Parts: sequence; C-alpha cells; structure tokens
Amino acid sequence: MATPNHIRHYTANNPGIMTLKGTNQYVVGKESVVVIDVALGEDSNLDGIIEQVEAMGGKRIEKILLTHIHSDHCGGALALRKRSGAKLGIHRSRAGYLGGEDFQYGDNDRIAFGGGELQVLHTPGHESGHCCFYESGDRVLFSGDNILGYGTAVIRPPDGNMTDYLQSLERLLGFNISLILPGHGPLIGKAEAKIKEYIEHRMAREKQVLDALRRGRNTIGDITEMIYVGVSPALQRVAEFSVQAHLEKLIREGRVKREGGRYLLFKDD
Ligand SMILES: [Zn+2]
Repeated sequence: MATPNHIRHYTANNPGIMTLKGTNQYVVGKESVVVIDVALGEDSNLDGIIEQVEAMGGKRIEKILLTHIHSDHCGGALALRKRSGAKLGIHRSRAGYLGGEDFQYGDNDRIAFGGGELQVLHTPGHESGHCCFYESGDRVLFSGDNILGYGTAVIRPPDGNMTDYLQSLERLLGFNISLILPGHGPLIGKAEAKIKEYIEHRMAREKQVLDALRRGRNTIGDITEMIYVGVSPALQRVAEFSVQAHLEKLIREGRVKREGGRYLLFKDD
C-alpha cells in the first residue's frame, strides 16, 4: 500500500524501546503544507522535515499539528514554528502546554491543507488530549500513538485511561480507513483488521486480569507476574501500568473493588 503523493514522512532520530525506530513526523499537502508531530528541535531533524516538504513541491509549512503532548511528539514543535513561521496548534485540553501555540482544535474540527483537509478526532486513552487526524479524500488516518506500526500502545494511568482507549478504538472502526500512518513503526494497510486486533488484544488481557483475580492474585505486581511471564525488565513497568489501567476500567464498571493496594473481584459474571 503506497502513501498518497501529497503525504511524506521523516522519522526522527530518537529510536528506543517505546519509540521503535523513531517518531514518524508527517508532512501533508500541496504548496501549503501541514506537519503532524515534531519530535526534536535540532536542526538536523528540522532539515529532514523541510527536505520532505520541498521534495513534494511544498512552498511553505502553514500549520503544525500535534497528536499529543508526549515529548517524542511535541519536543521540536516550537523550534519548527520559529524556523518556518508556521502556526502551531494543540488540542484545546492542552492549551498553553508548550507556551507558544497559535490556535487550538477540538473533536471534529476541520483543518485545511493545500488540496484537502484533516478532520480532528479526539481519541483519548494513551493521553487524555490525544488526537488522530483523518483525511477522508484518501481515507488516511494519522493515528499518533493510538495505533502503532507494531507492538501496542502504552496506557499509563492516571492520564492514560483504558476505558477511553477502547472507546477511541471502537470509534475509529466507524471510519472508512484504507491506510493508517502511525506515530511509530511502518504504515498499516489493513486498517480495520488492525483496529480489531488491537481491541481483541485488550479484551484478552482483561480476561487474563480477571482470571488472575479469581486465582487470588490481588496486587498489581502479582497480577503482572502471572500474566506477563518473562517480560524484560525494561518493559516491567509498562506491563504494570497496563494491568493497573485494566483494573481501573474494571473498577469503573463495578466489577472490581480496591482495598488499599489490593484489588478484589466485586461481582463475577
Ligand atoms: Zn510516541
């Protein structure tokens, strides 16, 4: 599945266990271009983005949009704004976070670029102000960290919220998407299958958490140990966050209660 001609990306040089090969920074449009996410403010990174703009005939960067406020997505936004003169936008729940934004956007807002427009989809879960951007012309979804090229998104409470995350994924299933361009990792051609796989993965984890509770495991550490067998030390904390996020979802649903540091099944069905 090829990317449409008016979309290019430059992957920032910030590889890591969470960022995979680095953050994908997208440039979208003809002549007047929108940039989605800027990870690093170093000249070499900004050069990389601007080269992509020029390579597709872009004349100017009109706007910079952010999928969310984690530093691997917004760390270079102010630097690119300064260098290019572009207007920087941020989700309205995060207004003032960077201290140099020019405009705010909210769910279902339309943001124009040369040759089309992006629909803002507020998709909390990974981060409460997280947004995906949908381009209906080519049915492309810029998914930020909601859906990754491989692996799964990190849901880290309290700002990360599993209930919201699953609702965001369900909502995305309602869009006609032919291509997902993620914040990390390679593009995804089979969009619907990927989103369903993501939902099924979380529901399978939830079942495992419930099963661990039934077997008398009742702390985050104990449950994580039972479910994530042989997880690398580097990912241990991430696994615990995930278990915590599932437990909090179950509490909201009245299925689990918390007593001190222990989690107990409230009603089993
Ligand atoms: Zn990220």
